[in-house]
Amino acid sequence: MKLVRHGASGDERPGLIDARGGLRDLSGLVRDWAGPALARETLERIRALDPASLPLLPPETRLGPCVGATRNFIAIGLNYADHAAEIGAEIPAEPIVFNKAPSCIAGPNDRVILPKGSAKTDWEVELAIVIGARASYVHANEALSYVAGLCLCNDLSEREYQLERGGTWTKGKGCPTFGPLGPWLVTLDEIPDLKDMAMWLDVNGARMQTGSTATMIFDVPQIVAYLSHFMMLEPGDVITTGTPPDVGMGRKPQRFLKNGDVVTLGIAGLGEQRQEVLAFDDWTAKVAAGEPTH
Ligand code: ZN
Repeated sequence: MKLVRHGASGDERPGLIDARGGLRDLSGLVRDWAGPALARETLERIRALDPASLPLLPPETRLGPCVGATRNFIAIGLNYADHAAEIGAEIPAEPIVFNKAPSCIAGPNDRVILPKGSAKTDWEVELAIVIGARASYVHANEALSYVAGLCLCNDLSEREYQLERGGTWTKGKGCPTFGPLGPWLVTLDEIPDLKDMAMWLDVNGARMQTGSTATMIFDVPQIVAYLSHFMMLEPGDVITTGTPPDVGMGRKPQRFLKNGDVVTLGIAGLGEQRQEVLAFDDWTAKVAAGEPTH
């Protein structure tokens, strides 16, 4: 299934995408794609419905982040062998783990706001895991049973905050709008091979990143199992799993996002995102003028 959340920011309702690509409403049948609703039983109940029996919504309906009420938004760093080689980093012996603030989560096509004064905001196309059941000390061979599904994530990053301001990477990873999730939360039965998913990212139509989950160092089951030894993973938690080569920081010359840029990205089977980049001052001016901000 391809699960979605639709409607105005902060007031999203649950839905799904039918076999013909139509957006169907699940209001009243599921409270939200959040927390306990992500349990296997709920997913099976919705799977048994005939999508044609559900209200069809206009295609222009805004999609919100495909999971709601996320309490832990965790990220894995340097998890692609070709990306590590590109920047001359050693293959990590254990996953590098950092936090993204849950308040940075945004819809897949919402605007990305550059932080105040930012000069080094960068992109990262990533596969993200959405947890469906409470996971603590699980083994890799059972880890997928704790996963509700996967989604596309742009792990936006302010490199100065991340790398030049001391301390951990977290400072550069959680600014508002730095975590677009979606368009869909895709259940695992729709993924033919977790280790063969093509991924790409363009800026203003020019290809920047091309990669595949084939070069992931720690795979989805290993990551869920590993993290579950350090924290309780709960339904609705999101783990974004690292990026392939050719982020802006790694290019020669370096290329960072600026006002007016358009970022598009996708992963095979998980859909596509499109974000317009807006400088902080332009965004505050739009807010002051009462214009829509996403
Ligand atoms: Zn990342």
